[in-house]
Amino acid sequence: MTGTAVRIAVIGAAGRMGRMLVETIHHDSGAELVAVVDRPGSDCVGMDAGELAGIGVVGLPVTDDPAPAVADADVAIDFTLPEATPAVAAACRAAGCALVLGTTGLGAREQRAVEHLSEAVPVVQAANYSTGVTLLTALVEQAARVLGHSVDVEIIEAHHRHKVDAPSGTALQLGETVARASGRDLAQCAIYGREGHTGPRARQTIGFSTIRAGDIVGEHTVLFAGEGERVELTHRASSRTTFAVGAVRAAHWVAAGRAPGLYDMRDVLGIGR
Ligand code: NAD
Repeated sequence: MTGTAVRIAVIGAAGRMGRMLVETIHHDSGAELVAVVDRPGSDCVGMDAGELAGIGVVGLPVTDDPAPAVADADVAIDFTLPEATPAVAAACRAAGCALVLGTTGLGAREQRAVEHLSEAVPVVQAANYSTGVTLLTALVEQAARVLGHSVDVEIIEAHHRHKVDAPSGTALQLGETVARASGRDLAQCAIYGREGHTGPRARQTIGFSTIRAGDIVGEHTVLFAGEGERVELTHRASSRTTFAVGAVRAAHWVAAGRAPGLYDMRDVLGIGR
């Protein structure tokens, strides 16, 4: 560790992403893991975060209260459940701690808590922290501008069997990107699955298809299908490392004197709009 290392608290440290984050921070000489939190009542509370992550004892037991954890940190990284978001946001606001939020499936109340926090501290919120998906989003935006209303747009995503929200936050973000770039309102034009006598497809709709199976880390395809040709833009994640590395990169970015505000991974990577 150096004296200038970014001090990071991981919320959801016992989860799939949390363990990956603990490992990634442990191997980052510019970052220091200062606290690890999971849900009250979890069997993992009290266990060593390093042992949970499979990297050996690091001397940090998992606690169950975000408030003291973030008080000691420059940045909190939260990959948990939407239910956790308001309490984490309130703790960050009280402590003046920046937030890198990876949790997906937020409802309106949780999203408001994030926006309220971003008035006081810098917050990065991304449905997908991988560099590849951030680039995919920019490419999808360009494709939607060019092809716009002359093609049918379908978004297909696949994830592991444990994922609890659908469509994925990334698929929804890609849908928002297509809708914005082609002057549509996703709430009005999204079709979440089809069954029975659906009638012919209306061009302005954006269709979503969801696959949940096995250990698929995360796959997204945006299909632009016209008459006589189609463009398919696909990203496949083969390891959660990509999300953890991206989130830690966002933590470094947000800790580097960023003004309060709500940012995303395109801001972090400097991919213009
Ligand atoms: P997981 O179920 O393996 O882990 C979630 C962890 O959060 C668990 O250990 C759980 O006990 C803990 N938790 C639940 N409620 C909590 C609370 N109130 N306080 C503290 N901890 C709490 O799930 P996962 O696969 O690690 O995914 C976590 C979230 O991250 C999901 O929303 C998922 O969609 C999202 N995710 C985002 C990205 C991205 O790049 N943005 C990538 C992967 C996963």
